[in-house]
Amino acid sequence: MSTSLTPLNHALEQLLADARVNSREVDLPLREALGCVLANSRSAAIDVPAFDNSAMDGYAVNTADVTDAGCVLPVSQTIAAGHPGTPLVAGSAARIFTGAPIPEGCNAVVIQENTARDEDRVTILQVPVAGENIRGKGHDIARGSEVLKAGHRLRPQDLGMLASLGIPAVRVKQPMKVAIINTGDEVIPPDQELGPGQIYDSNSFTLEGLLQGMGMTVIRKGIVADTLAGTQAVLQEAAADADCILSTGGVSVGDEDHVRQAVQSLGSLDLWKLAIKPGKPFSYGRVNGKPFFGLPGNPVAVFVTFAMLVRPYLLKVQGASQLALPTLRVRAGFDISEAGSRLEFIRVRLVSDQEGEQELQPFGNQGSSIMTSLSWADGIAEIPLGTTISRGQMLNYFPFNGLL
Ligand code: AMP
Ligand code: MG
Repeated sequence: MSTSLTPLNHALEQLLADARVNSREVDLPLREALGCVLANSRSAAIDVPAFDNSAMDGYAVNTADVTDAGCVLPVSQTIAAGHPGTPLVAGSAARIFTGAPIPEGCNAVVIQENTARDEDRVTILQVPVAGENIRGKGHDIARGSEVLKAGHRLRPQDLGMLASLGIPAVRVKQPMKVAIINTGDEVIPPDQELGPGQIYDSNSFTLEGLLQGMGMTVIRKGIVADTLAGTQAVLQEAAADADCILSTGGVSVGDEDHVRQAVQSLGSLDLWKLAIKPGKPFSYGRVNGKPFFGLPGNPVAVFVTFAMLVRPYLLKVQGASQLALPTLRVRAGFDISEAGSRLEFIRVRLVSDQEGEQELQPFGNQGSSIMTSLSWADGIAEIPLGTTISRGQMLNYFPFNGLL
């Protein structure tokens, strides 16, 4: 094993080159498809809206009948949403409500505020132009047009848009099953009393939330003691149940770190020292043929390596077209006078300076075990290797909401 540090982009390239895209597909009702990856492109079978309708409450007219402001028309019918009217009697107006079909013979809707009603007559106070306040058939989505491409990850608004087309279910890539294993004799679940030298498991909660946010299925393998036999047994089980295995802790070179030996006995493992901070110890391999990621133990390092390496890998396997984390360019609101020897990911908040311009402020303690830094922050800023930072310099910023 070489002692030099592996740059993040090299590690990512290797991982992505090794990712085998999952070909399994399932049909899911829209309500269960959030975060899933669309298996095929979708086109509209209908126009949306399917008929010309009123954008406002008012009076539907034919502009030929309204030549001057102040003209008075008889009100010949009332048309509510869901209740189509009849063709317009020439020279009259139809009372109409938002979403109601425009009757034949009308080409504009005069909003209620520009009219005065007196029993069965209405005065039109402003001359309308043809097409005014009419939402034309197909003006949102034209029948036959492609609305989403294969590989798109479904967001809440995509589900709504598909529903507007009368699509109740979608074919998606089968959500991956990802097993989580947390190693450490000192680690216990948060519902137990803390004994001497023990800490609560936080990593499994963070990882589970991240995976669920990506529409994946989590298989909790729980906490495993620092023994070779125990680690081998849980890895075997995980490889049988899941499409991919994530473990935290136990990948350093300490005597109690058994993950490396256990994985190697069941497959293969590459241990990397990544040129990033936090997140230096990172490993990738296979257990009984299933991809395996050995993440660090420290919670912030787990989060960062998941975001930068595991997430794009899983998205590729899942068939997603967009793998990289959404990145913004934002001003640093701080200085760093000493250049680092690793690419650094610092936890930051987006704040406004005195002029109302947005800038990034870092959390005070950037240690890799400091969970509050993640909880406090809005996202992560990237500090390039070997550079100092002065306030106002543009940095890559990854907002946390881009992780889901
Ligand atoms: P290790 O790589 O196993 O030496 O772990 C590195 C650090 O991460 C140690 O301080 C561990 O106690 C801590 N750690 C390991 N697993 C977890 C976990 N599931 N939740 C929180 N901290 C952990
Ligand atoms: Mg450990």
